[in-house]
Amino acid sequence: MKCIVCKFGGSSLADGSNIGRVADILYADPARRYAVVSAPGKRFSADVKVTDLLYECYRAACETGSCTAAFAAVRRRFTSIVEELGLENFDIASILDETEREIDARKSADFAASRGEYLNARVIAAKLGWEFVDAKDLVFFDERGAFDEERSYPVIAERLKHIPNAVIPGFYGTDVAGNIKTFSRGGSDISGSIVARAVDADLYENWTDVSGFLAADPRIVEKPEKIEVISFKELRELSYMGANVLHADSIFPVRKGDIPIKIKNTFRPQDAGTLILPSKKYKKQGNLVTGIAGKKDFTVIFIEKSMMNAEVGFARKVLSILEEDGVNFEHMPTGIDTLSLVIESRYLAGGMLDRLLEQIRAAVHPDYLRVLENIALVATVGHGMAASVGTSARLFRALSEAGVNVRMIDQGSSELNIIVGIDNDDYEKCLRAIYREFFGKAVQSMAE
Ligand code: ADP
Ligand code: ASP
Ligand code: MG
Repeated sequence: MKCIVCKFGGSSLADGSNIGRVADILYADPARRYAVVSAPGKRFSADVKVTDLLYECYRAACETGSCTAAFAAVRRRFTSIVEELGLENFDIASILDETEREIDARKSADFAASRGEYLNARVIAAKLGWEFVDAKDLVFFDERGAFDEERSYPVIAERLKHIPNAVIPGFYGTDVAGNIKTFSRGGSDISGSIVARAVDADLYENWTDVSGFLAADPRIVEKPEKIEVISFKELRELSYMGANVLHADSIFPVRKGDIPIKIKNTFRPQDAGTLILPSKKYKKQGNLVTGIAGKKDFTVIFIEKSMMNAEVGFARKVLSILEEDGVNFEHMPTGIDTLSLVIESRYLAGGMLDRLLEQIRAAVHPDYLRVLENIALVATVGHGMAASVGTSARLFRALSEAGVNVRMIDQGSSELNIIVGIDNDDYEKCLRAIYREFFGKAVQSMAE
């Protein structure tokens, strides 16, 4: 029988009536055998996600020894969900008491944060009449803290082999010491992908609050076009660059298993959604640009030195400084005599920037060293761009007409992506100008 693994995000599970919708979706197709669930998200824009409430509980447990006051908000969320769902015989109070005690005792941020998914999965399993299978027994991390696929996949496959339907919490697993460890924020998308790969699913459905992957962030560009079909490669570029509808790392498990992903809207299940295909199954859609995404708050360090390219080991020396200081870099555009490092500004706080500059001066004696701060990166992504002459010309003309000053350009070797560095303040203007150029619609400014 066909097998679909469904992941439901926090926006789809924020309250009892939403969980009721999710149950209808799952019951509507018997192929939907496994549900991977997030913690309840925001019910309205000023609301707080349960995961954030739980990080507060962790802080309270560390600072005062008891999270009781902070945990009251978590207690209210789950008690009202259980009431709304009419689960009279489900003893949520005891489960919450036990959870509160454990948060106090363990004093682990990951453990506390993971409880949103754990509790929600237990409630949803009770609602559906499906088996609850704890992610702590399925998903494992290795000694470096990376997902351990060799250990996890056989365990998941074996465990789920005889279970026709199960609810599995997303976001966490177990580390080598046996403690609960979470993925980074938004990581339930990765858990869903892992389960889909382990059971060799036919499809990984990712249910959220938008009707698919949109060509630009809907909070910045009004009513952007929906992308019908997108390749894993394009999706990886866009999600990594800030299109956070799907966690950038969630692509890897399903990609290895050639399993397509479908983004669907819990609130409009009748909408077709976006199909994400392995690159070899993907046929170009005729669109030059598939999507645009970006992120703010980068710092660029420009290093210039004559005959840099003739100096063996120049880049290695610079990169080993970053490695020693534990600083990740995002991009490294190079010219004949220049090398730039694009780094998330948060890594450079607390004197790290000055320290790096000092070390670079000492190690490679540049002719010129310059720093640009408050830079945003915007990526324009599409398989069609490489083959089409004049794409960059259109992009840069559109930016110049919109009055956006381009501070840096980086075209990845895949020719799938042109990244521009601009001032943080120009970010929204830049996204809208590129969207207008390639999608040909008047874009109203939503922020202004
Ligand atoms: P979930 O709770 O289901 O995991 P997320 O909040 O993580 O949902 O992701 C969905 C949100 O991502 C949407 O509500 C939307 O505001 C935002 N988003 C940002 N960029 C895009 C994009 N290109 N396409 C669709 N949604 C996007
Ligand atoms: N609940 C976690 C978060 O808020 C994980 C997820 O929703 O995917 O980041
Ligand atoms: Mg998400």
